[in-house]
Amino acid sequence: MSLLVVGSIAFDSIKTPFGEVREELGGSATYFSVAASFFTNVNLVAVVGEDFPKEHLDAFTGHGINLDGLERSLGKTFRWQGEYGNALDDAKTLKTELNVLESFRPKLPRSYSNIPHIFLANIEPGLQQDVLRQVATPRLTACDTMNFWIEGCRDRLLKTLEKVDMTLINEGEARLLSGERNLVLAAKKILSWGPKTLVIKRGGYGALMFYGQKIFSVPAYPLELVVDPTGAGDSFAGGFMGYLAKQGEVTETTLRQAAVYGSVVASFCVEDFGLRRMWKLTAGDIKDRYTSFYDLTTYEHAV
Ligand code: AMP
Repeated sequence: MSLLVVGSIAFDSIKTPFGEVREELGGSATYFSVAASFFTNVNLVAVVGEDFPKEHLDAFTGHGINLDGLERSLGKTFRWQGEYGNALDDAKTLKTELNVLESFRPKLPRSYSNIPHIFLANIEPGLQQDVLRQVATPRLTACDTMNFWIEGCRDRLLKTLEKVDMTLINEGEARLLSGERNLVLAAKKILSWGPKTLVIKRGGYGALMFYGQKIFSVPAYPLELVVDPTGAGDSFAGGFMGYLAKQGEVTETTLRQAAVYGSVVASFCVEDFGLRRMWKLTAGDIKDRYTSFYDLTTYEHAV
């Protein structure tokens, strides 16, 4: 079943201990939609400026991503500049230029109004709600966010959380949002605000998924080289939601499998700058790494 994503499309300038890139294609909706496209049909809602080249549009459509909901506005595409230290954990944001994102008001094409799975990627929370208002009766809704919005418009963000079934955020965001240092307590608080499932992404430490009274833990794949963590969170979300949309139902089994697929796709994303590794990824690569995760994490009950 198909999936809709609203989020940012960006030109990212990124510095990590392994090098530096400027004006690389990025953005939350970009990473998400490419990751999810390995599992299901993806329909994008986003804005770009006049400076956005056709070759990037072709890259999206080459992955079967529907661009009917992509708006091209007068002005420059959103730009983000970030830097990572030796630990390659949280990005330090050096610069955010909203540009066309500043006046963006998502208007969904009619063909999108019955899409059953909705992902509100990292974008201003009011825009996330604008999208929810325009979809008829979604089966599954989920959102992401980031420090920029937690600090800048917390009340609007809490309104988004009230309305979604699932939330996927990273551990720094979970702490900032909840005011709790301990992640179990942070999860309890965030779940009390609306979502029924919460995934807390922990970079190189994997992810924790809280659902019902249960917790599921998935590791990050033990890679020899992590080049650029940008987009890992969005790629995780794309693998996670893409798999759930493909399966068409949320059960304990599909949720846990989705969390593993999230970690699988994210593990490829970080192997190179921007989306360079993602463009070369194949369904076979994903399948093989899913099997490696199984071998990495299963063990027998002790007797
Ligand atoms: P992550 O998966 O958390 O590493 O997300 C990285 C992406 O988030 C980058 O490609 C950025 O372009 C995008 N991004 C950074 N700041 C913002 C923002 N304020 N709003 C929307 N997207 C952003």
